[in-house]
Amino acid sequence: MKCPVCGNIDSKVLDSRPNSDFSSIRRRRECTQCQKRFTTFETIENVTFSVIKKNKTRELFDKRKLLDGMIKACEKRPVPITEIEKAATDIEQTLQSTMRVEIPSAEIGELVMAKLKALDDVAYVRYASVYKQFKDIGTFMEELKQILGEDK
Ligand SMILES: [Zn+2]
Repeated sequence: MKCPVCGNIDSKVLDSRPNSDFSSIRRRRECTQCQKRFTTFETIENVTFSVIKKNKTRELFDKRKLLDGMIKACEKRPVPITEIEKAATDIEQTLQSTMRVEIPSAEIGELVMAKLKALDDVAYVRYASVYKQFKDIGTFMEELKQILGEDK
């Protein structure tokens, strides 16, 4: 959300409330650069939110980044790019429909893993191994056994 005064795109959400039918949300924002306060009306399709990363820093959700990670996991796998894009869009819409200001990256990771699991087992394991940052090969093998055992 661009600051109407200085054009800075980073702002802090002070207050966030959905209207009665949950089709849009009114947000009171403060520009992090010039401290000017302004109000935005965001609809479900364009509602923005921040991702709380593991190190507690926040960044604006970027669908492109989400998609890149998923494409990487599906590298050389027989998964059509259109399917991956559709999955990323589904995830984005699911997150937007919560109308939350901030969402932990762990929650997003879970959604991605659920989608990849439905698309391709190998892509799922690849993503899970990066996402869960296994401490050693033993933990990874344990998890892998669980993952592969679940469908059988
Ligand atoms: Zn500003």
